[in-house]
Amino acid sequence: MSLIVQKYGGTSVGNPERIRNVANRVARWHKEGHHVVVVVSAMSGVTDSLIKLAKEVTTEPAEREMDMLLATGEQTTIALTAMALHGLGIPAVSLTGAQAGIVTDGVHTKAKIANITPKKVHDHLNAGNVVIVAGFQGQDDQGAITTLGRGGSDLTAIALAAAVKADVCQIYTDVDGVYTADPRLVPNATKIQEISYDEMLEMASLGAKVMQARSVEFAKKFKVVFEVRSSFNDNPGTIVKQETKNMENVVVRGVSLEKNQAKITIAGVPDQPGIAAQIFTALAEASLNIDMIVQNVSAQGSTDITFTLNKDDLGKARKLIEPIVAKIGAKGFTALEGISKLSVVGIGMRSHGGVAAKLFRALSEAKVNILMISTSEIKISVTIDEALGQKATQTVHDAFGLNIAKPA
Ligand code: ADP
Ligand code: ASP
Ligand code: MG
Repeated sequence: MSLIVQKYGGTSVGNPERIRNVANRVARWHKEGHHVVVVVSAMSGVTDSLIKLAKEVTTEPAEREMDMLLATGEQTTIALTAMALHGLGIPAVSLTGAQAGIVTDGVHTKAKIANITPKKVHDHLNAGNVVIVAGFQGQDDQGAITTLGRGGSDLTAIALAAAVKADVCQIYTDVDGVYTADPRLVPNATKIQEISYDEMLEMASLGAKVMQARSVEFAKKFKVVFEVRSSFNDNPGTIVKQETKNMENVVVRGVSLEKNQAKITIAGVPDQPGIAAQIFTALAEASLNIDMIVQNVSAQGSTDITFTLNKDDLGKARKLIEPIVAKIGAKGFTALEGISKLSVVGIGMRSHGGVAAKLFRALSEAKVNILMISTSEIKISVTIDEALGQKATQTVHDAFGLNIAKPA
């Protein structure tokens, strides 16, 4: 007998038939004698509709109330999943995040898990139940409902797996595992058998939404090995775990594309100490997430600074930058939307050279212009025109031979 935590995402519970499908799958594990904890997301599209609804009521909904609202999506699914299991004669109990003992900080809409006391989960398991827990939610120490950021049901599952010391953690989704690129973008992408936490974390942070980045960070910290697999078949999925020596033999594990990026260039910035600090302090104080930053070589005492950010933050950033440009005596600024960030990721880059050259060659052959470049130990990112995103991803993917399945 094992203790298994399974998570089913929005598409997997997207309609009554799919909820029954999940119940059937869970029932199989239960009948084999395992203790099963099931984490479910809201039905696909529900969280988006709730956000839209809130914005129709008021342009700036209070974040506390937003969490109260969004948590209802998952609350619907836990009850329906429990009912579907009852329909199969399987004892099951649904629990909200708070009831499952998930305590977070008080940062509404992107709360961090502070601790989990899964006493009720254990009690219900020991009484023979399947325990269904609402993903994406918890409560702060004042008892207010919080949510864990988009895609946060992944985090619920991984954190619960750590807290209950699960033997197995399975993330069921609508694809067969983690692929060398988003299979919807690159049809010949291949399934990765094993991937290290660091690679998964980079891919997730750089646009591969198959896993929430924060959940991977958590898994790495608490050494939770997990499998990403399909809720629609029994194919083996992708194992995400600590790196092993042979993983370095693969130089590039995958390619990610992040859309919805924008860039701002401030021209004629005085080349003096403290100027960059002024600009980026103001942006940080407004909680704007700045990504790549490039400063040109100074010419005649002034320079240009360019940085990227999420397109949704562009309006806010423009308003902030305008007075700063005047204050620091810069010439002016321009903003550009419609760019994407393409990244190649692999821990093999630590020990193998030539990746940048190959990436740039592939992009040049596809006639894709590179706007900005940034690198870290295990990734190279470039920003490109959004309209060329798919073509560029496909070209780079094939240039690194990722269309040919590799042994683990
Ligand atoms: P869930 O609702 O199950 O959490 P998501 O929609 O959040 O599922 O994530 C699954 C989706 O992630 C897939 O349908 C796929 O289009 C997308 N995706 C992006 N990059 C990758 C990748 N490298 N491998 C697999 N899927 C990916
Ligand atoms: N329902 C939430 C979302 O759509 C959480 C999740 O699905 O993981 O972001
Ligand atoms: Mg998801």
